[in-house]
Amino acid sequence: MADTKNEKIIIFDTTLRDGEQSPGASLSIDEKLEIAQQLAVLGVDVIEAGFPVSSPAQFEATKLVAGQVTGPTIAGLARAHDKDIEAAAKALEPAKKKRIHTFIATSPIHMKYKLKKSPDEVLKMAVAAVKLAKSFTDDVEFSPEDACRSEMPFLIEVLTAAIEAGATTLNIPDTVGYILPYEYGRIIAQLKEKVPGIENCIISTHCHNDLGMAVANSLAGVRNGARQVECAVNGLGERAGNAALEEIVMAIHTRTDFFSKPGAESPILNINTKEIHRTSQLVSRLTGFVIQPNKAIVGANAFAHESGVHVDGVLKEKLTYEIMKPETIGLSGSRMVLGRHTGRHGFTDRCKKLGYKLTKEELERTYQRFLQVADKKKEVFDEDVAAIIDDEVRMVEHTFELEYMRVLIETGESPSAIIKIKSKEGIKEAQAEGDGPVDAAYEAIRESTGLSPKLESYSIRAVTSGKEALGEATVKIKDNGRIFIGRGVSTDIIEASAKAYVDAINRMLSTKKQDTETDITDKV
Ligand SMILES: [Zn+2]
Repeated sequence: MADTKNEKIIIFDTTLRDGEQSPGASLSIDEKLEIAQQLAVLGVDVIEAGFPVSSPAQFEATKLVAGQVTGPTIAGLARAHDKDIEAAAKALEPAKKKRIHTFIATSPIHMKYKLKKSPDEVLKMAVAAVKLAKSFTDDVEFSPEDACRSEMPFLIEVLTAAIEAGATTLNIPDTVGYILPYEYGRIIAQLKEKVPGIENCIISTHCHNDLGMAVANSLAGVRNGARQVECAVNGLGERAGNAALEEIVMAIHTRTDFFSKPGAESPILNINTKEIHRTSQLVSRLTGFVIQPNKAIVGANAFAHESGVHVDGVLKEKLTYEIMKPETIGLSGSRMVLGRHTGRHGFTDRCKKLGYKLTKEELERTYQRFLQVADKKKEVFDEDVAAIIDDEVRMVEHTFELEYMRVLIETGESPSAIIKIKSKEGIKEAQAEGDGPVDAAYEAIRESTGLSPKLESYSIRAVTSGKEALGEATVKIKDNGRIFIGRGVSTDIIEASAKAYVDAINRMLSTKKQDTETDITDKV
């Protein structure tokens, strides 16, 4: 196992970079900042905030995170091109601790078909990239893209050269999710043994989940001497995703006996596990990616025997079936319930305890909305408060607002909806029919806004249980190949659905003003 001085395992979160490359995920700059701030509270060591050269929005998001988030090191991704590295350096300028993460493909198939370069040229580019990155910061990470399908002698050669050029972290990505745990562990062990100077660097894992092996592979890497794990909240990432942060952390936390040296004094992770649940929920809400109920650690059923099925054994002694306590990931046994008699002070206090920092004006708006909800719903839970805040405190410009809606459903007739939409030009009303009430409302919204983006997906979930539960609708629309996510919350699911659609349209309009994407196919 690893030396004592390298005992700590660095958690490198790439939710905002690799995670955001998930098909269908699309976060605004402010949402990225909100996630980054929560990641800092969670205690991750490194936040990969973006790929600055890839678009103006990516650049701005990285810069904003670099300037506002303290604690973790902020990393920016860059191909082995001068302009990428310069853009990353510029975006990272405001960060107290910064890292440039540069990469180039080293597998025969990538070098020949994608880069159209010889191994020699690739080697030269890697060295030049690390050197240039080093001129901006001491903390330089190098990744040979598609490392697991690269030839071992060439991999050793490139990594040796990268170390000589100044790389301090060497990341070994399984870019295509092809490797199996035993093989991955062996690659890490071989590199540790054969690359001169690697003992002074941190070896990192970056595994994709195409065969469902991302977490297992990463842990095999750790077991063989890797001391950084790249991962994303809820396992987001390209295609089948990246190693799930919550699974990596809880596996190491639960099995410290396996990963830590006997008698090690300090904990091997910096993570405050009590923030895992909150972080997972935030990322799920903002990306519109619903968590499957049986998802390890953060799925709704992960600790279900706690509240649902009363397993006899669990009642007698929790450890008979529980290897982890729900409290460890921040699920508290005793839930705070608010109601219409909760005053402004109590509500403000709860928001603070839930970790929200709201301005006076936002707090007032949220409180008024809370009163409306409390009127309809006797008990308001923490999840409801979070959904209300999420719904009210929106950071996109409201080009359109849902002013009024009326939906008529009659047996034997097509449902029809009347919608009034407010904008700078005044109020526009439209009436439409549809296959169902939501369909009718959406058609009326299209008519009254004059926009008809393609509806990609629609889902609704109850925020808490009970017949008066708040419904949260999530809508994805597509415009010019880009996805925009809208959300809406109400005790009425048709109203929640209409709000979500209007929200998605507003997001589409505000993003259009700030972003133009360039198409980059290389990724780690
Ligand atoms: Zn990746």
